[in-house]
Amino acid sequence: MNATPRVAQATVDFDCVILGAGIGGAMLALLLGRQGRRVLVIDPKPGVATRGAEILKPRGIRVLAEQGLLDTLASRGALKRHVIDYHHDGKPLFSYDFAEHTQLGHFLIAPYSEIVGTIVAACADLSHVDIRFGCRMVDFAVADSLVTRCTLDDGTELRTRVLVDSSGSGAGLREFVGSERDDNRYHHVLRMSTIPMTDSIAARNRLYFDSRGWFAYFYPVSAELARVFVGVPQELERPVFDEHGIDLKGRLSTFVTRSDDAIALLDGDRFMPAPVTVFTSKPYHRDNVILLGSVVFSPHPMTGQGMSYTLEDATVLARILARAYDGRGNLEPLLQQQYQVRRSVHNDLVEYGDALARSYHDRAAYLSAFHTSRHGGDG
Ligand SMILES: Cc1cc2nc3c(=O)[nH]c(=O)nc-3n(C[C@H](O)[C@H](O)[C@H](O)COP(=O)(O)OP(=O)(O)OC[C@H]3O[C@@H](n4cnc5c(N)ncnc54)[C@H](O)[C@@H]3O)c2cc1C
Repeated sequence: MNATPRVAQATVDFDCVILGAGIGGAMLALLLGRQGRRVLVIDPKPGVATRGAEILKPRGIRVLAEQGLLDTLASRGALKRHVIDYHHDGKPLFSYDFAEHTQLGHFLIAPYSEIVGTIVAACADLSHVDIRFGCRMVDFAVADSLVTRCTLDDGTELRTRVLVDSSGSGAGLREFVGSERDDNRYHHVLRMSTIPMTDSIAARNRLYFDSRGWFAYFYPVSAELARVFVGVPQELERPVFDEHGIDLKGRLSTFVTRSDDAIALLDGDRFMPAPVTVFTSKPYHRDNVILLGSVVFSPHPMTGQGMSYTLEDATVLARILARAYDGRGNLEPLLQQQYQVRRSVHNDLVEYGDALARSYHDRAAYLSAFHTSRHGGDG
């Protein structure tokens, strides 16, 4: 992507152009749209992503509640859950009850397409919010260090006051912003599969670890389907999932003690890689170009809170942009004071995820890393 210097035009077509109709981009579009701003969201996929995160913890639920979206999400099949059972080497470790450890008292599970689809559907009620799927930005122009124009792949030229990159790991504008990533490395890999719902999964979310570095998580994703994540030490990925030299079901049975009905349904060939990309980066903005969500931070999936923090970030950003659009402050200092500071919140989450992910082979270390308030997402 090139940044071609051009002369700025006086007219503005959009208050904000957003790259990516994921959880971050869609929520920002909704918030700005409800302020009456003209927003364009572009996303190269043909529609709302079908695969992605599914567990929504209290901080994220609150953002959806504030926007009046929970009834719609419930009508799209979101499941209200309360407890996750943890086991180590086949023995119960503890039960984490959201009713006990969070003010909200529960978490939600829904397919990513339903969570984001709920937000995108709400955007459709706003005539000045335009979400274009199957579309990407191919160029942008800078004048006086501000991005002023974007060119889309169909040749359309747009003018915008602000450009937000919330395109996930694709991250087209990270380089332009000069944002650098610190990536974390792990000794394990994750694979994910979908199976029909079973009694054990309907009853409880269950997480199992063992002292040889294996990991398994079973949870429902709809009334009919359940998700299974299996983590293995990196060197075992091929023998287990590709060469089948290690019996997956047999190995899981040594430490997965309350999910026999689910183990019986597993098929080693049906596990897809789930990326464990964990990083923080900086800076989060440059002049009128702003990075949001997985473009700038990604915690270990073990935290189950990347979406929730991204939803909060979108609300912070929408407040900042409202002030800047109304002339109640200059964008750059507002971003520096109120948005860039989110990095320390993200760093805390990433550090917490690391502490969990690096200790799950060790019962005592995991117990010491686990933080009841942080885990529920209220702390
Ligand atoms: C295995 C795994 C499990 C996870 N589970 C959870 C969980 O249970 N709960 C939780 O809260 N978080 C979870 N996360 C984290 C969560 O997925 C992210 O925090 C969240 O998706 C970030 O949202 P986003 O909008 O920034 O990016 P995404 O959700 O990745 O959305 C990015 C959007 O940008 C679009 N796009 C891509 N390229 C371009 C481009 N060039 N131009 C325009 N658009 C583009 C994509 O099509 C997509 O629609 C998990 C992460 C992983 C890896």
